[in-house]
Amino acid sequence: MRLQRCLEVWKMGLVNYLDALKLQEKLVANRKLGKIPNVLLSLQHPPTYTLGKRRTFHNLLVSESDLQSLGAELHYTERGGDITFHGPHQAILYPIISLREIGLGARKYVENLEMAMINLASLYGVQAEAGKPGQTGIWVEDRKIGAIGVRISSGITSHGLAFNINPDLSYFRHIVPCGIADKGVTSLRKEADKELPADGVIHEQLMATSTGKDSTTSPFMELALEQAKFALENLEVPVGCVIVEDGKVISSGSNRTTETRNASRHAELEAIDVLLQQWQSMGFSPLEVAEKFSKCDLYVTCEPCIMCASALSILGIRAVYYGCANDKFGGCGSILSLHVGSSDRLPSKGCGQKGFMCTGGIMVSEAVSLLRTFYDQGNPNAPKPHRPVRISQ
Ligand SMILES: [Zn+2]
Repeated sequence: MRLQRCLEVWKMGLVNYLDALKLQEKLVANRKLGKIPNVLLSLQHPPTYTLGKRRTFHNLLVSESDLQSLGAELHYTERGGDITFHGPHQAILYPIISLREIGLGARKYVENLEMAMINLASLYGVQAEAGKPGQTGIWVEDRKIGAIGVRISSGITSHGLAFNINPDLSYFRHIVPCGIADKGVTSLRKEADKELPADGVIHEQLMATSTGKDSTTSPFMELALEQAKFALENLEVPVGCVIVEDGKVISSGSNRTTETRNASRHAELEAIDVLLQQWQSMGFSPLEVAEKFSKCDLYVTCEPCIMCASALSILGIRAVYYGCANDKFGGCGSILSLHVGSSDRLPSKGCGQKGFMCTGGIMVSEAVSLLRTFYDQGNPNAPKPHRPVRISQ
């Protein structure tokens, strides 16, 4: 979504539905008056069923009193869409933005919300798509993984999207989801069929995919993509990166495993080695080197692998921003979560694994298209298409 630079993101954790509703009303009123910038609320709700303004009560399959025993609340709202369920482990984004100010029509806005969830799912190898006419939200075949319910008043948006990371799907049995009787509901956990990173990581990814190119992180990712293109031209797996300090690129690297015949020459290690050599030649002590890395951010087109994530963690880099997930070797949540640090697992004396802030899904389509080009054309001997080939017996 092309939001302008001025966007406040509020990460709120678990918020009662009515509290969030009141907050949105207040923010919408203030946004209309121009008192606040655009705001993106990122949160989760306790178990709650909500009805849209069409009041399709018949799609709730239990009585209101039964809801109490389910531990769920029921609320009526002024958004579009049919009945839906919200609960823990479902990522919710409520953008309060002025569509007029950013010159976006309602339809395009909804498409952008859809695209954010499709891109998020693709980070985990799940192919999702927008519903057919009459079906809102995002679907994996005929199973719904994400819901959209939007309200636009005087050009200001509220409500938004709900993406099922790993909610208790049994709650959906008590409703006809979105009024469509013969369709199921699913989650990222179920479709990806593997352990997922913490909800907070997925919220970050969803925010990254929904705020898109104009997020502050993208200019550096564009430079990382240039490095990946350079690798592609040299018949290397197209992954590139840059390391940034104080808003300046101080090192860059691209994958050189073929040229060096060394499977460990990944883009990240190339960029790190440039700095290590430079700083060591300047006579920096290990402590000073660590001090330098603690102020550096890495932008890399693909999630760092387990080896690179571990190296970055030991060096104590401040933050990593990556494009697509690495679901074979990913060290930032796809396979292991080395970015969260491991002080509770390994004894850490001074230079143990420190962990780093990690955000994925930035300019993911560009990163994926380079990899696709490589595997489609560049390397006829390459193993494995991205998705496993299904062999029928
Ligand atoms: Zn690596």
